[in-house]
Amino acid sequence: MLRRQSARESAARTYARALPIVPVRARGLTIEGADGRRYLDCLSGAGTLALGHNHPVVLEAIRKVLDSGAPLHVLDLATPLKDAFTTELFHTLPPAFAERARVQFCGPAGTDAVEAALKLVRIATGRSGILAFTGAYHGMTAGALEASGGATDVRVTRLPYPQDYRCPFGVGGERGAELAARWTESVLDDAKSGVPLPAGMILEPVQGEGGVNPAPDTWMRRMRQITETRSIPLIADEVQTGVGRTGRFWAVEHSGVVPDVMVLSKAIGGSLPLAVVVYRDDLDVWQPGAHAGTFRGNQLAMAAGTATLAYVRENRLAERAASLGTRMLDQLRALAAEFPCIGDVRGRGLMIGIELVDPDLAPGQTPPDTPDAAPALAAAVRRECLRRGLIVELGGRHASVVRLLPPLTISDEQTSAVLDRFADAVAAVAR
Ligand code: PMP
Repeated sequence: MLRRQSARESAARTYARALPIVPVRARGLTIEGADGRRYLDCLSGAGTLALGHNHPVVLEAIRKVLDSGAPLHVLDLATPLKDAFTTELFHTLPPAFAERARVQFCGPAGTDAVEAALKLVRIATGRSGILAFTGAYHGMTAGALEASGGATDVRVTRLPYPQDYRCPFGVGGERGAELAARWTESVLDDAKSGVPLPAGMILEPVQGEGGVNPAPDTWMRRMRQITETRSIPLIADEVQTGVGRTGRFWAVEHSGVVPDVMVLSKAIGGSLPLAVVVYRDDLDVWQPGAHAGTFRGNQLAMAAGTATLAYVRENRLAERAASLGTRMLDQLRALAAEFPCIGDVRGRGLMIGIELVDPDLAPGQTPPDTPDAAPALAAAVRRECLRRGLIVELGGRHASVVRLLPPLTISDEQTSAVLDRFADAVAAVAR
């Protein structure tokens, strides 16, 4: 079956190359293949499944809509389900942001909401440039791609995103964050830099695809101060970090930064496609029809999303993610002390990255531009994980970072099983 389907499908697929699984059933952390094998899924639909697969409250919410006779397709019309979603969403947003915010339903993917956000700040400011960061990932449509890591375009100015481990600018920690902030200031203030006042700045509070790089809180606050004093709208891309994943409901809460725009997707749809951009009301300068789209009202996704947001909030799953994340980071750091091929363990909450490096290069010998990154080793760890029934993701500029994104509902025993299998996989490749 796999071969027949693959023959008809695009070569652009990625997950299917690394995961030769035909998933037929799933529940919570577990996914079952057509061959009957069961896996612990720490990929979670690329960080989408805050409650894991097929959580009963999500299934119940979807069933209720199906049984109610409600229209499934409503374009951008007002509906009771949309009202319930909006109410719950605003309940979770940081109050200082929510009190002046408006929501725009985009659809259906995260990249669509990024696109809308970039377009909105361009219209609102009458300017065109966008400030984005090294290692960023915002999606695959044209505007989002421009703002993402590898692409170059004159309209996007790329600025240093501070990293603790092997910062490309040679400094990490708080000092690195301050230097990165000063770099940003000088680009904006030095007329000779040739960078005109931009339309907006877009950043991820924790870079996901870029290899799990948590931004220091001090740097986040500096970015807020830099943008605020120059009237540059700050866009927080919380597509991956949102809904409790990093240990707070929204990752901007760690630093207390109140952005002007938030881009949300993945977990907000409770495993169905849903994407919104939320912004300060005075930025609401759209003319009717200025940003349209057929799929802006997926009723099933709103119902699944409302159930998910409410469940995470009522059961304090962000706090659980914070404590489980600390436990996982501690154990993974102990593993790193044992295996020199683990260069770094980092993360926030249940968004965790383990960077594989060439163990023959001594620490300190590594220049900042990561020549010792070990993508082959990372790929081998992923294969060994899969053999042991554990699904993980890779990321980072060199695909040398193994990423763990378990559902926030993962139990203590399951956490132990994930860590055991991961340790076995590392031991198998490090042998
Ligand atoms: N922004 C971030 C931070 C993301 O992690 C992603 C997806 N990995 C996107 C935007 C794009 O979302 P989508 O794949 O749904 O278009």
